[in-house]
Amino acid sequence: MKVALIGVGQAGGKVTERLARFDADMGFEAVQGALAVNSAKPDLQSLEFVDTQLIGADRVNGHGVGGDNELGTEIMQSDIQQVLSGLDGRVTSRADAIFVVAGLGGGTGSGGAPVLVHNLQQIYDIPVYALGILPGQNEGSLYQANAGRSLKTIAREADATLLIDNDSWHEQGESVEGAFDRINDKIAQRVGLLFASGEAVDGVGESVVDSSEVINTLRAGGIATLGYASEVASEDSADNIRTVMTVARQALLTGTSLPNATTADSALLVIAGKPEAIPRKGVEKARRWLEDETGSMQVRGGDFPLESDRLGALVLLGGAERSARLEQFMARAREAKEAEERERTDPAEELTDDRVENLF
Ligand code: GDP
Repeated sequence: MKVALIGVGQAGGKVTERLARFDADMGFEAVQGALAVNSAKPDLQSLEFVDTQLIGADRVNGHGVGGDNELGTEIMQSDIQQVLSGLDGRVTSRADAIFVVAGLGGGTGSGGAPVLVHNLQQIYDIPVYALGILPGQNEGSLYQANAGRSLKTIAREADATLLIDNDSWHEQGESVEGAFDRINDKIAQRVGLLFASGEAVDGVGESVVDSSEVINTLRAGGIATLGYASEVASEDSADNIRTVMTVARQALLTGTSLPNATTADSALLVIAGKPEAIPRKGVEKARRWLEDETGSMQVRGGDFPLESDRLGALVLLGGAERSARLEQFMARAREAKEAEERERTDPAEELTDDRVENLF
């Protein structure tokens, strides 16, 4: 699938750069163009591999918006024309989809990405997706509250929102902050493989996935998740039937970008590896297992030929918003918002709080 990427804010820019670099290193050529937009100049200056665009200079003078996502929204609204014209030539007729990438818990990306998605939808006929990063549970309440509002808005605007929970792909015992680099690498590999798997590959069989299958899986809208797992392939193709089942199970149950999200409207299972190591029977069995597990009748499957001695399973779920993890996160965001409001209210106002009824 040919994509144009636009990262908003610090996390958005860093992840966009990783994705563009991974795609180039692997020679996939799925990423057609990549742009990072930010109100903080130093964050843009640390990027080397993508084009950059500073916004809001008249308001914040290149210093960013702190954690103020309402200001992030305003700045994107004011400078939207500048950003859209910066995209000319990047969203060429060759792109099958646009991905707007952002950390939802901060300021510029949290507030700006939904505005950008909204405006892109007015201009382009191709799907506009969001790649949104949720704050980990240990991040502060401002991050949780910001991410709740941002997620609600971006999910309304985007054709689908692929969610990555910052708690899901970091190693045990490691602090989230220290682990960003490693998480970003994992995002780049997994999402990069998804982009590339929707690419036509010359000279291989018809079971290869194409971009319309990725788009059709995401057509359910709402929240999407991505899971991945791999294992060393065996010489023996019968052994590989078992391996394909194992990696498909791990990808959905433990390797997913949003933990405990297994109910979905649609799914795509891509098995990556050397074509001769991929057992047809195993792929079909894993696809049927995925149907049972997700409760979806729309499970697509295909291969992704890759020179590797491992077999990998990539599982994309569409319409996965009925997940316990999402519910947990929204509850966390609501609580954080209420706590913040309590702090802001003048104690004297408590006596006029109309949630408590007067006696007469
Ligand atoms: P912004 O620049 O104002 O948009 O704010 P950030 O992009 O720094 O957004 C903060 C949120 O993104 C927090 O919830 C962080 O957990 C997350 N975040 C920041 N940097 C990274 C990163 O490099 N990788 C990942 N995965 N998350 C990040």
